[in-house]
Amino acid sequence: MNTVDLRSDTVTQPTAAMKAAMMEAPLGDDVFADDPSVNALQEKIAGMLGFDAALFVPTGTQSNLCGVLAHCQRGDEYIVGQMQHCYRWEGGGAAVFGSVQPQPLEHQPDGSLALADIEAAIKPDDAHFARTRLLALENTLGGKVLPLAYLQQATALARAKGLATHLDGARLFNAAVAQAKANGSDARTEARRIAGLFDSVSVCFSKGLGAPVGSALCGSKELIARARRIRKMAGGGMRQSGLLAAACSYALDHHVDRLAEDHALARRLAEGLCDIPGVQCEAPDTNILFVDLAGPARERSAGFIQHLAQQGILATGLYRLRFVTHLDVDAAGVDRAVRVIREWFRA
Ligand SMILES: *Cc1c(COP(=O)(O)O)cnc(C)c1O
Repeated sequence: MNTVDLRSDTVTQPTAAMKAAMMEAPLGDDVFADDPSVNALQEKIAGMLGFDAALFVPTGTQSNLCGVLAHCQRGDEYIVGQMQHCYRWEGGGAAVFGSVQPQPLEHQPDGSLALADIEAAIKPDDAHFARTRLLALENTLGGKVLPLAYLQQATALARAKGLATHLDGARLFNAAVAQAKANGSDARTEARRIAGLFDSVSVCFSKGLGAPVGSALCGSKELIARARRIRKMAGGGMRQSGLLAAACSYALDHHVDRLAEDHALARRLAEGLCDIPGVQCEAPDTNILFVDLAGPARERSAGFIQHLAQQGILATGLYRLRFVTHLDVDAAGVDRAVRVIREWFRA
């Protein structure tokens, strides 16, 4: 029985073809900036998203840290959503390592930060306050695609107020693929359209794109030069990292459009569960499905995740369950998950 691992899209194993690309990659020493595979990846992702430069880093956490610290000095602050990764899930790194203060805001139900809230959070130039320097947004956020029109308005507001803008686009390509489907466009065009609104964008290769390790920060030449110093200080200056970069390049070439399959599987899962009494789920925009347990389902939640695990279905949560589809999950796996979950709730 194969395990159906729906805990995260980070659990994917590199495919045989990806491993072959890694083994064939020409290597150098990236601290001397002469690893050809790292340089090729940086040029590829910068070019795809319409930036002058990019920096390969081991994790999305380090990418966001390099981004925030390249934009901000000690005593600056960045405006960010309460649920965003670069505020809530990164150990407070920008504050710890950079003395950059976060100004977190509550999200609207669609995941956005209200423009009025952003504007009200921008501090006047007054010695009482930290200097508001940066607006950081995330797309997708909890699997939700922030509307392009909203991103345009929020980044225009930031620019008008003299703020820089950073996008945590760990799952930018999931957003782009979903947006492309909605617009009858293509994912690369949409990714560029979203990224083009921001001064810097961080992208993860180790989520739905299926690479084992790696993220990139994209921005201007000057910003990336500053980020490179910060990466070194953070211990992220790697050597023959072309081995990893080659996997990421392979993912960009082969695993972008297929994200649509992950999105379809998340919808299939939602459709299989949504009529169970007390099981509440919104149709997912992308590859992340949240399921809230209420009433009779909530009463049966004790031991549920453990039971799923015994049946070879892995997920996270208690009353709010999270299921994430990815490269290593197929329709048969999703259907088995639906069956096991329905049996537990006797739906
Ligand atoms: C996964 C993720 C990151 C980075 O995570 P790492 O585990 O450090 O690579 C950053 N932002 C978002 C939104 C993420 O989902």
